[in-house]
Formats: sequence, structure tokens, C-alpha cells
Amino acid sequence: MVKVRFAPSPTGYLHIGGARTALFNWMYAKSQNGTFVLRIEDTDLERSKQEYVDEILDSVAWLGMSWDELYFQSKRFDIYRAHAEKLLKAGLAYKDNGAIFLKVKKQEIKIYDLIRGEINFDTSYFTAHNDDGAPVLDKEGQVVLKDEVLIKADGSPTYNFCCVVDDALMEMTCIIRGEDHISNTPKQILMYEALGYKPPKFAHLPLIMGKDGGRLSKRTGAVAVSEYRKMGFLPQAIDNYLMLLGWAPGNNQEIMNLNSAIKIFSIKKINKAAAVFDMDKLKWINTQYLKQMNVVDVASFLKPFLKERGFIDESTDEMWLQKIIGLYKGRFSTLDEFLERTDFIFQENIIIDSSLVLKHLTNDKKEIFFQLAQAYETLESFDSKSLEAVFRGLVEKCGLKASDVVHPVRVSLTGKDVGPGLFETMEILGRVKTVNRLRQAFR
Ligand code: GLU
Repeated sequence: MVKVRFAPSPTGYLHIGGARTALFNWMYAKSQNGTFVLRIEDTDLERSKQEYVDEILDSVAWLGMSWDELYFQSKRFDIYRAHAEKLLKAGLAYKDNGAIFLKVKKQEIKIYDLIRGEINFDTSYFTAHNDDGAPVLDKEGQVVLKDEVLIKADGSPTYNFCCVVDDALMEMTCIIRGEDHISNTPKQILMYEALGYKPPKFAHLPLIMGKDGGRLSKRTGAVAVSEYRKMGFLPQAIDNYLMLLGWAPGNNQEIMNLNSAIKIFSIKKINKAAAVFDMDKLKWINTQYLKQMNVVDVASFLKPFLKERGFIDESTDEMWLQKIIGLYKGRFSTLDEFLERTDFIFQENIIIDSSLVLKHLTNDKKEIFFQLAQAYETLESFDSKSLEAVFRGLVEKCGLKASDVVHPVRVSLTGKDVGPGLFETMEILGRVKTVNRLRQAFR
């Protein structure tokens, strides 16, 4: 029976790296009909915060990963202490200055990692070092090994110790976590051995790097999952993107939902090489998911965001909103982009960039703008077909070319020089805003 866990420390928000670790654990559990445990490692009472706990639980749930069991390490301090006492009694640990240490002997440690194969750590790994980096030697000139802290002087247990006690008691079969934890693994093996527990299997996931080749930073994508949510990404798209960071479904397939992924997921197929986080790729995937959705679903996804910005309210016409989405479908990859492109529809007044004004709203267009405003004000049916017919007629009458007027009109109505069909845009914008903006263009 497979049992795995995602064990975040609530000392910060859930980031892309953590979400990827959670997802690989979850996919592995689901693919094996196993159990997925969420364990909040809140032993650092000072740095752990309730708001981070809430955000982590929220984000994991939003990404569609349901957990079978939930634990908080802060509620298990007596269990860790009892285990430390046991080691003290057995003579395998000792007390010093209020802290409890595990005695570390000279030895080599081998771990077998499902992704990276065998990893060996020799005794030098446990050697104590001076501030200048030189090994500490005893009176006989022998290297001194660094004993491992189990319980700190303030009574709080260390990460490594809690992790081992819990992974053993909770009967984890495989530990899937980030590569940055490889260095902890030999210490944890020693603790398993001292406690008489059998170590689980390990699988250390490759690092995720920024596109610039450096560590994932805020600029290169290390943003909280909740931020991506606010930016208007779909959880399905984020899951799909995360699963590609270190794993591939094969056959060059990139769009794959979780249900299909868990049917073919295999830890052994995870890459050793670092994965690169590519925001453009994530956006591309989000666009693919948005394209597959019908306008009704996109509308219900967008509504809360639009409401929050005061762009729509309860009285907003649902059909109108769906029409806007239909017109812009395929033209936006996130909610932010949708708003960037459509803000002019919802806003009362728009601000037109002066460079666009200079380029497009030249005086030779003044007359046609005036004529268009007049005609549109009284046009019987304000639909794209009628709007276009009037437009073409007047443009010809003024001795202009339609192509020379389309861009200036678009700029005056939308504040942008690109967008979908001009007359569909006018229809959606409505008579009042269209006429007002045409008039205001030359004021
Ligand atoms: N609490 C650790 C972290 O957030 C978990 C490490 C582990 O999975 O063992 O990095």
C-alpha cells in the first residue's frame, strides 16, 4: 500500500516548487491507489504563521489535490520528546546544555534514490567544521563528528527528527521531496537506524530554475500559487504545467489533465536534470485550457474577478458578458490579459496614450468622426452589420479610405490600436459609449 506525504513548513506561501512537490506526491498516490497525507511542519513556532497554513491548505485544495489525512507537527511535540527520551535511555543520545543530541559514529551511508539511483555519503559528510571550513580535530588528531540535534535547548524538536519520527509512525512508503533535501537524508537515515525503524524509499525531485538559469526568483516565477490564482490562471492549467516540470507524458504530449496523467504516471520516469520554469509556457497552457472551455464556463470563471474590480455587478447582463468573452476568445491567456484588452468596455472613461493620439487622431479625421457620431446616435439598430454599413457609406462620402479610418476609430473607442473586429467591438461597447468617445476624440 503506497503512502506519501507533502510536508510544507508554513513559514511562507505555497510556491511553484512546493506545489510541484505536492502534485508529484499526489499523482503518485492516486496512480497507485495509495494515501496522500498533508503534514504541516510547523515546529518553528516563531516563523510559522496561521495565514501561511491557511494559504497552503487553500492552494492545495484549489489545485484539486484532496488529502486523505492532515497532521500538524506542533500538536505532536510529546511524541517527538518521547522518542528522544527513548534514545537517551538506550544510550544513543545525550543531553548537553538542555539540548538532546544523537551520537554520530564514523560510518558511510548509502541511499537509494528512485530518481537518482545510489547516492553515497562517507564519514566526512558528518565531520564538524571550524568557522574557517577546516575539520575539527580532537586531542589525538582524529576528526570530530558533528552530533545531530534532536531536541533544541528551547525544547523544540528539529526538522530532521520530527520528519523521521512522523514518516516512520505514519508509515510512509516513499518520500518524494525537492532535491534541496538530499543533504538531510543521511542524517535522517541515522535517526531511523537509532530508532530501529526501517527507512522508506526516497525520490528527490529535480530543482526548478528560472529561465535565466538562476534560482527561481520572484521575477522568474517564484510567486505564490495564490498570486497565480489572482492573475487569473486556471488550476487545471497550473497542474498541467507543474506535471511537466520533471516529468513528461511521452509522445510529445503536453496538454494532459490530472485524470489522464495519473493513469500513466511513474516516478522512475522523472528526470534528474533541473527543470526550467517558463512563464510563457504556463500562459500558453492556460490559453489552451481557456480555448477548450465554453463561454458559459469562462464567464463563471471570470465573474468573481470582474466583480472584485467593480467592472460588473449583479445587474450585468449575462448574455452581454458572454458576447464579450466570445469576441475575445483565443485573444487572452489569463484574466489579467482579458482585463488589459477589455477594460475599455467596462470603464466609463478611457485614457488614450498621447503617442496613439498623435499618430491616429489627426485633424483630417475630425469631420468623419463628427459624421459617425451623428449617424450612430440615431441609428435604429445598433448592431455590427448596420454600424459597418453606415461607416462605409460615410467614409466614402468624405472621400476617405476605410482602412485609414478604422484604426483612428478603434483608438478613440478602445484606447488601443489592436483588437477584434471594430464593428463587433462597437456593438458590445454600446451606443452611449461609442458616440461619446467619438465626440470626445477631438475635444
Ligand atoms: N518541511 C520541509 C519543507 O518544507 C519538508 C521536507 C520534507 O519533505 O521532508 O521543505
